[in-house]
Amino acid sequence: MCGVVGVWRPEGPVSWAVYAGLLAAQHRGQESAGVTVGDGVALRTLRGAGLVTEVFREGSLEELSGRVGIGHVRYPTAGGDSVAGAQPLVGVTRAGEHFALAHNGNVLRIDRGSLNRRGVGYLRTGGPREREGESDSQVLTDQLAGRDEPPAQALRELLGRVHGAYCLVLATRSLLCAARDPHGFRPLCLGRLPDGGWMVASESAVLDAAGADFVRDVEPGELLVIDQDGLRSEHFAAAPPATCLFEHVYIARPDSLIGGRRVQQVRQAFGALLAARSPVAADVVVPVPDTARPAALGYARAAGIDYGEGLVRNHYLGRTFLRPGDGRRRDDVRLKLNPVPEVVRGRRVVLVDDSLVRATSMRQAVALLRRAGAAEVHVRIASATISWPCYFGVDISSQEELAGHRMSAAEIGAHVGADSLEFLSAEGMREAVGGEPSLCMGCFTGSYPTTVPAGAPASARRVPPPGRTPPPAR
Ligand code: SF4
Repeated sequence: MCGVVGVWRPEGPVSWAVYAGLLAAQHRGQESAGVTVGDGVALRTLRGAGLVTEVFREGSLEELSGRVGIGHVRYPTAGGDSVAGAQPLVGVTRAGEHFALAHNGNVLRIDRGSLNRRGVGYLRTGGPREREGESDSQVLTDQLAGRDEPPAQALRELLGRVHGAYCLVLATRSLLCAARDPHGFRPLCLGRLPDGGWMVASESAVLDAAGADFVRDVEPGELLVIDQDGLRSEHFAAAPPATCLFEHVYIARPDSLIGGRRVQQVRQAFGALLAARSPVAADVVVPVPDTARPAALGYARAAGIDYGEGLVRNHYLGRTFLRPGDGRRRDDVRLKLNPVPEVVRGRRVVLVDDSLVRATSMRQAVALLRRAGAAEVHVRIASATISWPCYFGVDISSQEELAGHRMSAAEIGAHVGADSLEFLSAEGMREAVGGEPSLCMGCFTGSYPTTVPAGAPASARRVPPPGRTPPPAR
């Protein structure tokens, strides 16, 4: 997951815009946060473990003045979860030019080509990793640091050989680069600031928060270079586009635009289709807050059933899915959700969630509603069954953990204690995004848009061999 931000302003300062962007991108990662700013002479970095507001205290921003800056919020999917994984990472080329890099995604492979010697030993595939726990971002940083060319030029050459899912931002003392992988797995967009400056961010809502106007998505395989000479764009590689559908389901903010579609409207469409395909006689539709609200609203409107906030969420605990470890997740659910008995008592409830990964949270939510007096609880999931791992930067790594891999919908329903449980189909999801063909739906269908390399992480080796399309998910 993770979120990235980059800002270049003709007269500076950029630190507040980067900070505001990170606050708006906090939902994409809560493990650590960091900012690097270049003032034309030097780069300064501040990063640490925790939320953006914990890492940056009063006065922090004054120490980070400059015309170019990048920022990052991190959720660890590779490379451990220690503070050492906080980004941006800084490096210096052989020619002595300093740079900072922040990255979102999952690098699967780097073609050897002219790799510098430090990098060869710890490619994620095709050879053992020299330093276990090394993040993708550190590998990329080391690759750039081993070059003689200026960082922007070295980045252009490197990106043509990097395979996987990534959005990255790079800053030197006076220049900003931003790039999106050739498939465009993760979103990245470009905005314009009122003073003529430029901003790139993981989501359009992040641009909004910093006062930038959305200009367009950064295109798959596109590299942007921004400095006092303006904005330059070039394409370093081409591949079939495959934007992550799980961004629409869960990851992105509902007020963001991805691929020209407002996430909130897509989620409502998921819910409306679910109501048409999986109807049930009920008195109230209740969302699992917060991500499932648009889908529940879509379901309620389409079914002509009352919508009610039957579960209230404590907003100060973060997103459960973002906290690694199943024991922590279970505890989080009890802390996070509380039922409203007046909404559900004696009523037949349709409980709508955006997705179902491990079923831990859903089991707790159903139990809460029953204890609050619900007469029936029918679960409706506004996405397809997740039965396959993600290799492209989302924490769906262990197939054994996935309820959809181990159980049928009816079995999951019994497991969570629901009167019934149904999913939207993968075809229904595609229909809800207007039949969009250029999507990754790998975790839903087991069919990935690119070959999964032989050296993929251990938790993913239980899927069929690389390059083979597995049978349809249950
Ligand atoms: S496998 Fe799933 S989570 Fe991963 S990029 Fe594809 S759609 Fe997104």
